[in-house]
Amino acid sequence: MKSYFLVEPGSIELREIPMPTPAKGELIVKIESALTCGTDLKAYRRGHPKMPMPTPFGHEFSGTIIDAGSSANGYHQGDAIMGAPTAPCGDCHYCRRRLENLCPLTMREWLLGAYAEYIKIPRRIVEKNMFIKPAFLSFEEAGFLEPLACVIHGIEPLHIFPEDTVLIIGAGPIGLLHVLMAKLKGAHKIIVAGKHEQKLRIATELGAHFVINTVTENSVETVQEITKGYGANWIFECTGMPAVWEESISLASKGATIILFGGCPPDTKITADTSRLHYDEISLMGSFHYTPGDVEKAYQLLVDKQIEVSKLITAKYSLDDLPKAFNLLLEGKGIKYAIRP
Ligand SMILES: [Zn+2]
Ligand SMILES: [Zn+2]
Repeated sequence: MKSYFLVEPGSIELREIPMPTPAKGELIVKIESALTCGTDLKAYRRGHPKMPMPTPFGHEFSGTIIDAGSSANGYHQGDAIMGAPTAPCGDCHYCRRRLENLCPLTMREWLLGAYAEYIKIPRRIVEKNMFIKPAFLSFEEAGFLEPLACVIHGIEPLHIFPEDTVLIIGAGPIGLLHVLMAKLKGAHKIIVAGKHEQKLRIATELGAHFVINTVTENSVETVQEITKGYGANWIFECTGMPAVWEESISLASKGATIILFGGCPPDTKITADTSRLHYDEISLMGSFHYTPGDVEKAYQLLVDKQIEVSKLITAKYSLDDLPKAFNLLLEGKGIKYAIRP
């Protein structure tokens, strides 16, 4: 079978590897759709600490079971499925505190290799983070299970009032999923800051009320203008750049919470105005990964069609065209590409 490997940053190779066989509880799935993702782009551009190279590549997938092995989980050959690429152990220090997103096993056994003809789904994922895909949901839409779960993890617990200003920094797939979620949570004033006109247009189509082109506009001035000098009440940082993390504090209202979604390069640091953090009660909140509860919520939103993700698919490509998709993403073109082997 064919499967892509990220050999080193900027270099992907389609390799012929042996067809996997399922151990007890595992499944073999024919990939129907694998979605490109900001994490993949980051790894492709500069490497990724959780992806020692050469590494199988791609982690947002949906497909059809071709071998259910001796699965005791009720799955059968021919079932269409959608899954997240990790699952927690359920019994460690973090899992016992319902912080399953921080379970050490989660990232250690990350299922990679979705840009391929087939993939073997480990038992833990089959048991905890996989669902049957209903026929009315396309394979592309089903592929949003993981990124949506990550976004839900940060935004779902927040109490956003309709009159609050929500500022989303970064108009890539994650920023745009935040637009959809903020709208769903009843926000009436959503601002999206980004540097590509095409992506900002999509942000508006998805429901953003204001957009800021950070190349031509001054974010601080524009946010002050839109919020009558108060600043934003909720800020979602979706760029993963230390300078933007720092700037987000100057965009915040008193009492604001800044959700730090975008992970920065290793060993980077930020400095913050301590008096703003203290006297203005500005909270910095990290948000990383997802719990099985978040995956379940993402599944529900997708199957209930409460969230319309299809606008985020820029194009569908064959497996052979994966390098083309990454080159376009490198140029800032497109939101997500669906790879259909
Ligand atoms: Zn992803
Ligand atoms: Zn655990």
